[in-house]
Amino acid sequence: MKLFEAALSHCQKAAELIGLKDDYLEILSEPQNEIIVNFPVRMEDGKLKVFTGYRIQHNNILGPYKGGLRFHPAVDLDEVNALAAWMTFKTALVGIPFGGAKGGVTIDPAEYSNEEMRRIVRRFTHALSYNIGPDHDIPAPDVGTNSQTMDWIMDTYSNTNAPSVKQSVKGVVTGKSVECGGSKSREAATGQGVLYNLRHWCGQQGIALDELSIGVQGMGNVGGHFARLAHEEGCKIIIVGDHHATIKNSEGLNIPELLEWIKQHGSVAGFAGGQEVDSEELFTTPMNVFVPAALENQITLERAKKMQCQLIIEAANGPTMIDADRYLTNNQIEIIPDILANSGGVIVSYFEWLQNKSAHYWSNDDIQLKLRDMLWEAYDEVLLFRHRLACTNREAAYAVALERLREVYDRRGIFP
Ligand code: NAD
Repeated sequence: MKLFEAALSHCQKAAELIGLKDDYLEILSEPQNEIIVNFPVRMEDGKLKVFTGYRIQHNNILGPYKGGLRFHPAVDLDEVNALAAWMTFKTALVGIPFGGAKGGVTIDPAEYSNEEMRRIVRRFTHALSYNIGPDHDIPAPDVGTNSQTMDWIMDTYSNTNAPSVKQSVKGVVTGKSVECGGSKSREAATGQGVLYNLRHWCGQQGIALDELSIGVQGMGNVGGHFARLAHEEGCKIIIVGDHHATIKNSEGLNIPELLEWIKQHGSVAGFAGGQEVDSEELFTTPMNVFVPAALENQITLERAKKMQCQLIIEAANGPTMIDADRYLTNNQIEIIPDILANSGGVIVSYFEWLQNKSAHYWSNDDIQLKLRDMLWEAYDEVLLFRHRLACTNREAAYAVALERLREVYDRRGIFP
């Protein structure tokens, strides 16, 4: 099954549960705009290379298109279509005035120098041109991109606009460095949001955070910050993996030391504070909570059958395959779905956009309080729908999102 079809299949089930009109489902089953750009960049050796980039604008009924940019060799139209649709449902679920989009470039950033990446990012921004903008479509970081990427995009966009608007277009991207107009707490926001979800789940179950053993797949922005924050709360992180290696320590890994190691060596491989094991052990090791924070389609049916945890929090987008999802649900392994679990990132992106618009910057405490409240409100809404519709967390999350989209479509009608 294509990833975009998988993304829509959850939506179809939720639509049935709430009796959504077929018209609306039909609209949401196609992205509004699919932008593909092929753009040339001069490499440092003097040779020219042409890259392919995408920006998929799925839906903007609730506000400007919003979603990350992924730089990865596996980026293709199907993947960005799915990621863009998930953004529409995520922003609707958490109640922020944005639509859904996603983009990317088919590239392995590790193969290029910093100077070449700077040229690629600037040329890609120029190729997208007026298809992005602070009130139209607002990219953010995702796999393979970071605050440096966002700073370059903002600078390129600002320099190709009229002098009178140069300062007011900072909000063309979120996830910028604080120095360039980014928000405090944005870098760690997705991992922080995952932890707020976990804390809420613990509260419901009557379990203390420091009783938990946790496994994390992916130690990049999301997985790394989540592991750090969970470790600070006393959770035992017993196994972590990235695209190079998997490290295990049943007594609990020393996460600050591990993160320092990753900073220096680019991977968990070779870290002496744990034992290197086969990556499949991420899925077979008994633990309380598993946090996939890498890529989509990681939890296959075969892997699901071996999993021994109580809860999966989907920090990554689309990590669980459809048949695995069904199997886990039938076997009482609870899932906090991606559109809720990793929404902390887009919530603080919304805060960054507001701060850029008002040129008034908020404190860390303000941001943390607002983030936690918005996340817990969305979580409680999902629980309410789950009980009302007698369905899974995932179906309930989509149902909440679809209700919000339906209300607006009902009021606005379909143009003309
Ligand atoms: P990142 O590039 O910072 O990190 C990705 C991590 O995954 C790296 O540690 C990498 O080694 C690991 N990885 C890649 N392939 C793997 C594999 N096959 N097996 C094991 N590990 C693998 O990316 P990120 O920003 O942390 O994003 C991770 C996930 O979170 C993605 O699904 C992304 O869409 C989602 N997400 C990110 C944000 C954000 O703010 N960055 C927000 C919401 C959702």
